[in-house]
Amino acid sequence: MDYKDLANLIFPDAKDISYYEEKYPERKLKEGAIVTRIAPSPTGFVHIGGIYQGLVAKTVANKTDGVFFLRIEDTDQKREIENGTYEIATACETFGIDPDEGRTADDKDKGDYGPYKQSLRKEIYQAYAKYMIEQGKAYPCFCSSEEVDEIRAKQEKAKVRPGYYGVWAKCRNITVEEAIKKIEAGEKYIIRFKSQGREDRKIKHHDVIKGNVTFPENDQDIVIIKADGLPTYHFAHVVDDHLMRTTHVIRGDEWLSSVPLHLQLFHEMGFKTPKYAHIAPIMKNDNGNKRKLSKRKDPEAAASYYDEAGIPKLAVKEYLLNIANSSFENWRRANKEANIEDFDFKLNKMSVSGALFDMVKLLDVSKVVISKYSAEEVYEESLNWAKKYDKELEEMLEDKEYALKVLGIERGNKKPRKDIAKWSDVKENINYMYDDKFNEIEQEYNYQVINEKQDVNTILKEYIENYYDDNDDKQTWFNKIKELAGKLGYAKEVKEFKANPDAYKAHVGDVSTVLRVALTARTNTPDMYEIMQVLGKDRIAKRFEKAMNQ
Ligand code: GLU
Repeated sequence: MDYKDLANLIFPDAKDISYYEEKYPERKLKEGAIVTRIAPSPTGFVHIGGIYQGLVAKTVANKTDGVFFLRIEDTDQKREIENGTYEIATACETFGIDPDEGRTADDKDKGDYGPYKQSLRKEIYQAYAKYMIEQGKAYPCFCSSEEVDEIRAKQEKAKVRPGYYGVWAKCRNITVEEAIKKIEAGEKYIIRFKSQGREDRKIKHHDVIKGNVTFPENDQDIVIIKADGLPTYHFAHVVDDHLMRTTHVIRGDEWLSSVPLHLQLFHEMGFKTPKYAHIAPIMKNDNGNKRKLSKRKDPEAAASYYDEAGIPKLAVKEYLLNIANSSFENWRRANKEANIEDFDFKLNKMSVSGALFDMVKLLDVSKVVISKYSAEEVYEESLNWAKKYDKELEEMLEDKEYALKVLGIERGNKKPRKDIAKWSDVKENINYMYDDKFNEIEQEYNYQVINEKQDVNTILKEYIENYYDDNDDKQTWFNKIKELAGKLGYAKEVKEFKANPDAYKAHVGDVSTVLRVALTARTNTPDMYEIMQVLGKDRIAKRFEKAMNQ
């Protein structure tokens, strides 16, 4: 009896691996094309770090005319939740990092290298496990979890490394005959890899992000197929990334220490090894301490947070690229209008220790991103957001023609308005342009410098009766405010006022503030000329009336 008999007994129906090798041939891509993936587990929480990894992976694949795919790693079925795949796939879609291949939101596959969900690949893993057993590179292990615990306890007592390895690996040297007997007697088992590594030997490895690293060889006989017949992460990773013809494994750096094992598995199975790029987690400054962005403590760790807050995906992507490559900021300064796809992203320039995530900076980026949107784009995106999260805003946007006028104020010009960082800011930024909302405002206006009721009323009355005309162009409009200022004894120019402050009650800017406050109930607004144009004389007059009657 030999290894083949053992392999046949354990996996009688498994196909020969040549079947899969032919079914999933080398990809025909141009030289240097990167095939990479994200491989999340469907645990129900999509971390922004996953989106970050996906963005990095998609960016490098796109830049090289390669392939970016999504694989669902659901071999730990205890942790899986029902809609897990849907949530991952839709999060990818939301952020515009939809894969070229992989599992889709409706739990179907796109691409020729699937299934892209590990639980559907059981027979593939078993074929490769069988192949390993046939060569004596894997074996059945009959140790119960109590026995494994016992081994660990002994190791602790003897102060040696824990694990199933070398002399501690009880089932490693069981003969084929013995193993067959146990299996035929119905004993339970799992499959372990038979490591040829030695802990006292070192391997050198070059990681695309971390650079050169040195590790002891792996000598652990890790589990490759569990009691439920599914593979462990390690085995599935090697089989899948081989068969899916991954060239670059881009993943979280919690896996860096597993590289010796993975390289060893690739080698023992006779596969070509991919390159590895281990991404450090996104960090956050917490009162001076740098720590990981945490699912438990930080709402912004959830990918869903950005959609809820209404931060456009483009802003999130731009910001993530910003922290992924420190050269992004300079590039953006020099290429203000360019698309982020044009940035020459470099995987090997990513931070080794973890990029710092700063919400305030993200919102600043977002303001700039939104400032470049057309009124139509702002309208569409804020309406989409409002439909999901804000009924009141949705109603305000019902009259599209008017909404476009409002949203178009100070947009599309050289210095567009930058007051909107997220769609949830829109209502607050435009509500005064809606009469019903405006009329609800009850607090007394603060006109700042010119505060005498009499003075305020005179300005408003004079202006609406004798100066304002809907047909004026901006220059004429402004000249008229100056004229009005002059007539009422205010300096027509700020400089005049500064040169001779005692000669005037206040200056034209203060007069403008009176108009602005009466018009909008706020001191800070986008361009007042455009606001007046949108409101029109009748509505302006009504607002002034309200102000005069306060
Ligand atoms: N399922 C693994 C994880 O979520 C994937 C690691 C990998 O990308 O290979 O950490």
